[in-house]
Amino acid sequence: ASRFQVVELGPPIEVFQLNKLCVEDSYQNKVNLGVGAYRDEHGKPWVLPIVRKMEKQMADDPTLLHEYLPVLGLEQFSAASVAMLLGKDNPVIAAGRAFGVQTLSGTGSLRVGAEFLNKHLKATTFYYSTPTWENHHLVFVNSGFTNPRSYRYWDEKTRAIDIDGLLEDLRNAPENSVILLHACAHNPTGIDPTQEQWEKIADVMEERKLFPFFDSAYQGFASGDLDKDAWAVRYFVKRGFELLCAQSYAKNFGLYNERVGNLAFVVSDASCVPAMKSQLTWVVRGMYSNPPAHGARVVAGVLHDQKLYDEWKDNIKLMATRVIQMRETLRAELIKLGTPGNWDHIVKQIGLFSYTGLTPRQVEHLIQEHHVYLLRSGRINICGLNPSNVHYMANAIHDAVTK
Ligand code: PMP
Repeated sequence: ASRFQVVELGPPIEVFQLNKLCVEDSYQNKVNLGVGAYRDEHGKPWVLPIVRKMEKQMADDPTLLHEYLPVLGLEQFSAASVAMLLGKDNPVIAAGRAFGVQTLSGTGSLRVGAEFLNKHLKATTFYYSTPTWENHHLVFVNSGFTNPRSYRYWDEKTRAIDIDGLLEDLRNAPENSVILLHACAHNPTGIDPTQEQWEKIADVMEERKLFPFFDSAYQGFASGDLDKDAWAVRYFVKRGFELLCAQSYAKNFGLYNERVGNLAFVVSDASCVPAMKSQLTWVVRGMYSNPPAHGARVVAGVLHDQKLYDEWKDNIKLMATRVIQMRETLRAELIKLGTPGNWDHIVKQIGLFSYTGLTPRQVEHLIQEHHVYLLRSGRINICGLNPSNVHYMANAIHDAVTK
């Protein structure tokens, strides 16, 4: 008898289960549109050339040791991350009102930020969009947030943002609630607020004294331009908000497994920073003690060198452009086939994902009959498409929709 007999099997994580099913499928033309990772035009994972270049340099660098990093990580990395997010000439940086903490990718940033807000500001209520990335809920609840709430976001009928519903839900939120906002390329819908809508969101949040916590997992992937994709965060900073922002380098550097992230803070009074850093040190110390160095060194090396930075931007542009082309091709193929319904949303949506509007029954049909793997919600990772399989995909959708 084992003392672990009390342990019950937990539910599977949908996206990883789906991936496993796909990997085990021996069908030659299978299509994997589940996990949100970039694939090149041959359907293969892509190591960014800029990353390879840095890693080669690093391999021969005798000064790079495997000593522990400080608890809050590599200072050059977090400072460069904050500058990338806010723009290096942002006055809050010069004023000492912005700083960063190196974390375990985007998820680790959210986790450290949420625990810090819970412990030190006694925050217990947070709001996430419906729908949102499925891990937001768990990360905040595990950080001590006992009151998870949601705000309306996606309107199924119009396939657009339910801005009135969103604003109404924020207006009714208790003061000091933490509002989780996707900085750009909203996951899973691929629809971001317009600038006018962001302004309205900021108005309500200011009036209701709500606290913005941005999640920036796709900077560069929405428009192909790092600055444009940071517009919303920069706008909130300009409006005078204090805020947190979880930055992930999983997607825009293709460093998924290296867990490179930064938790950026903007505060209204620089004198608060030393105490905040000292308490963040204790949050991290009790969670994982200190972060890994490899990915942070790659990113810091690139961000600190203008020539490498420009090369990285070209790598991003290439990925973003390929995604946009695949959106257009998929829509064109569906129109050519005369597939019932309007498919404009596929090209209007941005980032890695498209929320197709396919029903759970149609999704099941695609998986079972066509070996096309996508989430039950109908979300597809557009990068899973390439010139060789997009035609197959369009035919499969056509069949699912007309069945
Ligand atoms: N936030 C959102 C919205 C995401 O889509 C993701 C990645 N799927 C993350 C955060 C975190 O990813 P990671 O921890 O790999 O950086």
